[in-house]
Amino acid sequence: MVQENVINNVFGDIVELKCEYCGKNLLEDNGQNAHVLCIKKINKCNEIVDVKCVCKGDCTKNLTNFSDNLSYNFVELHYMMIPGFFFRKYFKILRDINDGYLKFTDKALEKFMLISTALSQKISRKTSEKEMETLLSSKELGTW
Ligand SMILES: [Zn+2]
Repeated sequence: MVQENVINNVFGDIVELKCEYCGKNLLEDNGQNAHVLCIKKINKCNEIVDVKCVCKGDCTKNLTNFSDNLSYNFVELHYMMIPGFFFRKYFKILRDINDGYLKFTDKALEKFMLISTALSQKISRKTSEKEMETLLSSKELGTW
């Protein structure tokens, strides 16, 4: 039986995912009542200027300002913890970047990678001790 509410240690230490407003641990309850908020500056090439994980309701209200010239896109956080859904979103982002429709600010990219790292603990299998030793001793990053 597959356990949905397990946090697998992928990178040696558990990476927390907290609501950007109230600090609630969003991994503990499997992302219920929270979403990923993607804020874009709309242009010929849309630019993601911020990515936030935030509780629905008051936390979201306190972190959004819909009056400016930005687009706000929400995705249910618990959907992003479904492996197929996560990769579908991830590949769409890669495709849009490749096609020249999307880019990140440096700050937004750093936040996106941190959120993806935290989510990877929900969507990946448990890392074996041998694999973790290999990971922690490996200096290779981003090479194929
Ligand atoms: Zn919150």
